[in-house]
Amino acid sequence: MPHSPEVLQSIVESSIAGIITIDSHGIIQIFSPAAERLFGYESSEVVGHNVSMLMPEPDHSCHDGYVANYMSSGVARIIGTGRKVTGRRKDDSLFLLHLWVGEFAIDGQPMFVGTVLDITSEEANRSALQESEERFRQLVDNIDEVFILRTTAPYRYVYISPAVEKVFGLTADEAVADPGLFLSFAHPDDAEFVRKAMEEAGHAQRVEVEYRIIRSDGEVRWVWTRYQQFEVAPGDPPLVAVVVTDITAQKDAQRAEASARAEAVRANAAKTEFLSRMSHELRTPMNAILGFAQLLEMDELSENQHESVRQIIHGGRHLLDLINEVLDISRIDSGELTLSTEPILVSDVMDEVMDLMVPLVAARHLTVLAPVGDGCHEHVLADRQRFKQVLLNFVSNAIKYNRNDGKIRLSCSTRPNGEFAITVSDTGIGIGSEELKRLFTPFDRLGRESTGEEGTGVGLALSQRLIQLMGGRIEVESAPGVGSSFTVLLPLVKTVGLQPDELGSPAAGAVSSTATAPGRYSQLTVVYIEDNLANVRLMEQLAARRRGVTLIHAMQGRLGLDLISSSQPGLILLDLHLPDMSGEEVLRRLQAEVTTKGIPTVVVSADASPGQIQRLLEIGASAYLTKPFDIEELLLWFDDPHRMEGAVP
Ligand code: ADP
Repeated sequence: MPHSPEVLQSIVESSIAGIITIDSHGIIQIFSPAAERLFGYESSEVVGHNVSMLMPEPDHSCHDGYVANYMSSGVARIIGTGRKVTGRRKDDSLFLLHLWVGEFAIDGQPMFVGTVLDITSEEANRSALQESEERFRQLVDNIDEVFILRTTAPYRYVYISPAVEKVFGLTADEAVADPGLFLSFAHPDDAEFVRKAMEEAGHAQRVEVEYRIIRSDGEVRWVWTRYQQFEVAPGDPPLVAVVVTDITAQKDAQRAEASARAEAVRANAAKTEFLSRMSHELRTPMNAILGFAQLLEMDELSENQHESVRQIIHGGRHLLDLINEVLDISRIDSGELTLSTEPILVSDVMDEVMDLMVPLVAARHLTVLAPVGDGCHEHVLADRQRFKQVLLNFVSNAIKYNRNDGKIRLSCSTRPNGEFAITVSDTGIGIGSEELKRLFTPFDRLGRESTGEEGTGVGLALSQRLIQLMGGRIEVESAPGVGSSFTVLLPLVKTVGLQPDELGSPAAGAVSSTATAPGRYSQLTVVYIEDNLANVRLMEQLAARRRGVTLIHAMQGRLGLDLISSSQPGLILLDLHLPDMSGEEVLRRLQAEVTTKGIPTVVVSADASPGQIQRLLEIGASAYLTKPFDIEELLLWFDDPHRMEGAVP
């Protein structure tokens, strides 16, 4: 049914798409309101004008040609189809529009109708989407991780990133084609739990698994795979995103680190073993050297012979000091040496140190300036014996490197940060600033070898390590020709509420042997269990110096135990390294028997490690004498085997 002109007019006017008609010369006949809105022209401004006014170059100039061409050839490039073109608004701005062109005739005259729609924003959206897709693809394509997208059921790959080739050695196309392929790459030992993980990923939210794969070229690699489920749209079956990372390099590094750690532990154990052997091997002969020399010294000798023996003892002691210091440094460096810190009254330790140093001070005509008032009557947290060792080292240096008639000053002070400072100053030769840098280097005597002062150059190196182990530090100030100040800084302990015996006061653990000794024994049988003949001979000679003492000895632990149970001695001397069983085991058995438990047992060993000493005292040893032992001290045991009874160990 033909429509009335009013109906057609209404269609044109209400159409959302712009409608433009032109004649065969390109002159605009109709320009709908939607077209007006699109191009910004009033219909009156364009009707009767060439449609090329709505186009930018090159169409603007060529449009007449297009129409003429069609009119003469009948070959249409646009008619009947739609295409994207650029339009020009009245204000000359350009925009993208979709144009469909149709042809009709009025009174035999060809006419064309163009329907136009603005697609600028759709285009912008589409290109933004494309751009973001492209960026995402580039990212996924270029990361080393393999990125996989797959469905849950049926099991199908939607996407596999190209990195799959680098990690697994197969192309993304090959992988997509065969859903079972990935599992076939798993190392046979890991395949079962990988299969389980894959299955779990079908229903769990997130699954992670680490396993080995065997690549297509046979190389074994470690991968870390994470499965994460997500919903694309509500109601749709979820997808699983899988990320596979090649962690072979990390695994190799971890393995190398673990084996380096194991190697370090082994090396440390070997070092400890070496130290303990060294300690034993060096001390055992020193025991014979110093022991026999001391015995010789007690005999009647010519003055020359006496001097020779004194030299042997002096050299031996020096060597022993050196052995002890070097072993201590090695022990600290290998973490073997442990200290037991407790609150120590500084003035006590200072008094002990000065008592020991009196003869040396007097020999050099030095003056000691004691701390002013109660300045040093404070407690610091320290290992008593080692703290004393450090102060002895400082004072002995202040004596050795002083000038005749010089001074030594002892002083204490509390620093604002709570450290307690104990200073030993001297008026000696001092140390140059260049030499100060090498002060704590073991065996570096800063060129003092030629001064005639004896030394090893190890004392300060050891002191520094010991104080650091106690949580403290050492400060040194020195000026050549003026003197030096050595300061130990240790944590100050507030003593409020502590009992005297908690403060490490010597009264707590000290034993006065004369006060508690029940008197000399008329007859004493001593069993000595020792496998080193030189030491046995030395002990025999010592026993011979005490009337009433009978020494019987056993070279083996078991034999020793038999001897003890048959002879019921008054004293047992026990070496620890025995051929058949350890001395520790002998001691345990003695302690386990009612008949032998009460016999005082003194361990005499070259092994001086503090842990060992502590352990044997805990098992029940009355004392632990380290070789080379002091002869006077050993003789005290012959005089009174019960001398330590009632003492706090
Ligand atoms: P040593 O056994 O040689 O005394 P130390 O480790 O105790 O070893 O000291 C290292 C070096 O530091 C000494 O050899 C000496 O040169 C120097 N030194 C230490 N204390 C003093 C001091 N009070 N005055 C001058 N020099 C000192």
